Amino acid sequence: MRNRLHLIASAAMLLALTGTAHAEGKPALVIHGGAGVIRTSMTAEIEADVRKALRKALEAGYARLEAGQPALDAVTAAIVVLENDPNFNAGKGAVFAHDGRNKLDASIMDGKTRKAGAIAGVETVRNPILLARAVMEKSSFVMLAGTGAEEFARESGIALVDPSYFRTERRWQQLQKALAAPENPQASTGSDAYKHFGTVGALALDKSGSLAAGTSTGGMTNKRYDRIGDSPVIGAGTYADSRCAVSATGWGEFYIRTVAAHSICMRAEMLKQPLAEAAEFVINKDIPSLGGDGGAIVLGADGTIAAPFNTDGMFRGWIGMDGEIHVAIYADEDDSAD
Ligand code: ASP
Repeated sequence: MRNRLHLIASAAMLLALTGTAHAEGKPALVIHGGAGVIRTSMTAEIEADVRKALRKALEAGYARLEAGQPALDAVTAAIVVLENDPNFNAGKGAVFAHDGRNKLDASIMDGKTRKAGAIAGVETVRNPILLARAVMEKSSFVMLAGTGAEEFARESGIALVDPSYFRTERRWQQLQKALAAPENPQASTGSDAYKHFGTVGALALDKSGSLAAGTSTGGMTNKRYDRIGDSPVIGAGTYADSRCAVSATGWGEFYIRTVAAHSICMRAEMLKQPLAEAAEFVINKDIPSLGGDGGAIVLGADGTIAAPFNTDGMFRGWIGMDGEIHVAIYADEDDSAD
């Protein structure tokens, strides 16, 4: 297991890109559609759909940045596209919990002000990232959960839907498979039967040099007891300050325990490590050393972009200083500009 992770990690290291987007006043955008992609379980059709959706999300977010809008707007616009696409585990197409319901988590953070908003376990909010943003901008709180979060959504005019909106047959079958698998001693998460994937996230650097980060997910298939992962936890799944922005995806318990997103930024700041090296350490050394897996996207205020992961693949895309759309899925694709 360790050896496999090490080999994949080395390949993923090549994906780290550096640039000087901010120095040139250029915006940048990085997105992910989840780690844990297994090549053998992908069909050509899903792969094509996913690449198309990643492009669409990049186009939606980057248009905001080009128009001079703040990083927060780009993050929100990109994530809404991915939440609306049934191929990702966020919004429509979210995974099912043990009780056959979709329970959604999301968070967003503004690097400039370090204001943040998060929601957990909502079942009727069409675009959870919009509610996370409303929590940040319209309430005095950072994190709301369950029915209280939905009450706040109603009061804030956020679009609500019937829970059946989130259902897809593919995710339902994944739950049936997980339910039929032998009981997992690790508390309903973790083994292959409960594999996580498809969480979405976005990071943006706007023309004024401000960063923002956001993450949205249905969590892990077959989760129980209103389990909440790292995605809505500021510092674990999402973090942004004036120098660094991170959105994570993976086995959430380990991202919470390593305070992954914040750790990446703090390693870079306190240890003076290049951001890509700091991300490499947390994702490909620290988390695997505890038994976890997954990936993250990272964006620096200097335009540095990194996307380390230790799974077969991670849906990801970016527009950096070259202004081109790049989309990739597997570890051996370092740059699929098209
Ligand atoms: N990190 C998410 C969670 O644990 C799952 C994922 O990223 O796929 O809820």
